[in-house]
Amino acid sequence: MTFAQLGLCPPILKALAEEGYESPSPIQEKAIPPALDGRDVLGCAQTGTGKTCAFAAPILQRLDGEKVSGRPIRALVLTPTRELALQIQESFAAYGRHLPLRSAVIFGGVGQAPQVEQLKKGVDILVATPGRLGDLYGQKLIDLSKLEIFVLDEADRMLDMGFIHDVRRILGWLPRQKQTLFFSATMPPEVRGLVDGLLVNPVKVAVNPVSSPVEIIEQKLYYVDRGNKTKLLAHLIRELDVKNALVFTRTKHGANKVAGDLAKAGITAAAIHGNKSQTARQQALA
Ligand code: AMP
Repeated sequence: MTFAQLGLCPPILKALAEEGYESPSPIQEKAIPPALDGRDVLGCAQTGTGKTCAFAAPILQRLDGEKVSGRPIRALVLTPTRELALQIQESFAAYGRHLPLRSAVIFGGVGQAPQVEQLKKGVDILVATPGRLGDLYGQKLIDLSKLEIFVLDEADRMLDMGFIHDVRRILGWLPRQKQTLFFSATMPPEVRGLVDGLLVNPVKVAVNPVSSPVEIIEQKLYYVDRGNKTKLLAHLIRELDVKNALVFTRTKHGANKVAGDLAKAGITAAAIHGNKSQTARQQALA
């Protein structure tokens, strides 16, 4: 199966090829054709399955296919975390790089001014976390009356993180007539309730979870005294030619210390934990 066979248009095919995608993942194969047809989709899929492209590519193509005047928000993607929101908007920018559509992302923990600035210039596709969307909508800085497509991403995590009430409130702001693409890895009763109230005759697509890390990661245990732990770590990173590593520590102070000691040993390292601002976390991840 190729992306072209799924009915995607040349500018998107070109962008996907530039991303290095050779063939569609199972969720993309199943979800893209009905989403392109304007159907509601209920996707049972985790992060890592390629679900972002499964909804982003058809959204880009549908919005590009029908021009509208002005630049109202025509697609809204609601996702539980800031990091996911950023990744999703980057995906829209990547897959849509040959199309004249504009996307933006809004989330809390950072100043709202630059986000408001972008909204004022007009965006076709908005990616948002529930809290900041509610704030800006409450300030009348967001108009959702022209919305055509709504994506609810990671619905079960919205529930886990206590956002389900916010999500229900937001649903009340959306036009009744719209296409909805709904993704959740699991379907607890509250999520099922949302599905029943929101989706109209949806196409149901499910894919197996990506293999769990424990199946594909080789694990090793080293007994080492406290004072030598970071030295051993630096040694292993060098010896094994590790390009990227994630190190977990018990405390925030420990995270800072390990990052500092690695840096002293000449290994680029940064710490993230609950005392770091969103900006500092993003810088560390970058
Ligand atoms: P997601 O589940 O949407 O977070 O995607 C997981 C990762 O897979 C991301 O890094 C994507 O860039 C990548 N990806 C998505 N679809 C494909 C594809 N068809 N071929 C190769 N990589 C892909």
